[in-house]
Amino acid sequence: MTKTYLFSIDLEDVRDSLSNGGKFSERVLLMTEAYLNFLKCKDWKCTFFTVGKTAEKHPELLKKIVEEGHEVALHSYSHIPVTKQSREDFNHDLKKNIEFIHKATGIIPIGYRAPIFSLTNEVDWAYKVLAENNIVYSSSIFPANNPLFGWKEFGRKIKKVNGITEIPMTLGSFFNRELAFGGGVYFRTLPFSWIKQQFSKHDMVTGYFHPYDIDIEQEKFMHPGINNNKFYNFLMYYNRRNVFHRLEKISKMGFEVMRYDKFVNQLTQ
Ligand SMILES: [Zn+2]
Repeated sequence: MTKTYLFSIDLEDVRDSLSNGGKFSERVLLMTEAYLNFLKCKDWKCTFFTVGKTAEKHPELLKKIVEEGHEVALHSYSHIPVTKQSREDFNHDLKKNIEFIHKATGIIPIGYRAPIFSLTNEVDWAYKVLAENNIVYSSSIFPANNPLFGWKEFGRKIKKVNGITEIPMTLGSFFNRELAFGGGVYFRTLPFSWIKQQFSKHDMVTGYFHPYDIDIEQEKFMHPGINNNKFYNFLMYYNRRNVFHRLEKISKMGFEVMRYDKFVNQLTQ
């Protein structure tokens, strides 16, 4: 059986979630170009879960992503956690996300990822709203307890909820803590020997990266969503220069990298 790495990018501008975001430089374009170059070199096709505001600001970038063979999927319009929205607000925000991706690319997206993996049992009505909007799959759950959001009882397996195929984050145990080692801050900061060991244990690994994960020149500011914790903020910047080196090594481990839509399509065959 081929091993699959569901590498993906959560395409968003972190400045949009800061009260003083306008003070800092635009970095999304450059960083996305760097990811696109890397993907081209590796011949990897992946999924860009794109925030509506970013699609609205950079339609040319979205067009380029599609032209290069990647999937564009949804990541909300305004990057507000689902738990902070009413069902109506969520529906409205999702429709706006679809609209701006459609405007930029001519494509109607079929996949969704909740901001900060904020789909939890409290807001499981979100699946009904996703189904009403013709979404096919979601990759929105952190299936363990987590300081931010988590839904342990969901379990780790891919499941259908209200007709939506949910692909939860792949987790590995690190000193009794369950961590989503395939992407973001965990992939970047944890010892690489442990990361590699986790990859070799799993047949399918989900991965999620942000423009800032590789940005070694981004100005220092307190990142949103970490409750002003200085240590977490240090981690938000730590080891960004090694992300591509680490990915390079993972690429030699025999994983096939796949767009989420293709992966889901394969599941149903
Ligand atoms: Zn995000």
